[in-house]
Amino acid sequence: MLDALKVILEIQELDMKMIQLMHIKRQRQKELESINANKNSLHQRVNDKESEIIEIKKLIRLAEGDHNEIAAKIKKLESQQNAIKKVDEYNAITHEISAADRERLAKEQRLSDFYDKLAAEEDVLKNLKETLESSDESYQVQETEIHESIRQINEEGKVLKVERDELVGQANPDVFKVYERLLSNKKDRVIVPLENRCCSGCHIMLTAQHENLVRRGERLVFCEHCSRIHYWQESKAIEDTVVATKQRRRRSKV
Ligand SMILES: [Zn+2]
Repeated sequence: MLDALKVILEIQELDMKMIQLMHIKRQRQKELESINANKNSLHQRVNDKESEIIEIKKLIRLAEGDHNEIAAKIKKLESQQNAIKKVDEYNAITHEISAADRERLAKEQRLSDFYDKLAAEEDVLKNLKETLESSDESYQVQETEIHESIRQINEEGKVLKVERDELVGQANPDVFKVYERLLSNKKDRVIVPLENRCCSGCHIMLTAQHENLVRRGERLVFCEHCSRIHYWQESKAIEDTVVATKQRRRRSKV
């Protein structure tokens, strides 16, 4: 294998870990966003219900005013009636009073409907507030857990970065530049072994000449299909170390 690739392979493993970490971090941030959206919608429902109740109370005040007015009117008519001696006038007022009384009953019915509605909506509001309170508690627990896990991810990321910076210091700058460009395109392993003449990145077969170039390891050899850099696993011993390192890393990821 081209010597310059060895350090870059180490960097690549760190970068894969970092990509994985960032992926988890984005997922956790999305969870936070969805918790916030749920919280906001619940708060919004409480606010809406509160405004609805204020409106009903306004309607009740108006209806109570109307009712009092009509009751006062009836009282007035009754006292007028007491002073009247003529039968037809008396009857006219009786008629007026019974009309007003029907109106009063209708207003009373309307008021009673409003009172019922108010009681029902106040019940709904009470339930909403209880839901809000209990879900606020459970959201609080979830948020704390997510913030803690993001904090850990950031810590892990910092450690990886220190390790990576150190390796980058040892890497051949030209090869490293090529590697970084490829990585930013693929967000995946870009230095891969050629196995049985097959690219382990895109799994397309390559020619015997290509294999020879890779085997010689004198310069960078790119896959003509996916542009990844190929390397040759020269001996079983080296292969074992690479595999062992990968496995170790995989295990430590879990
Ligand atoms: Zn390929």
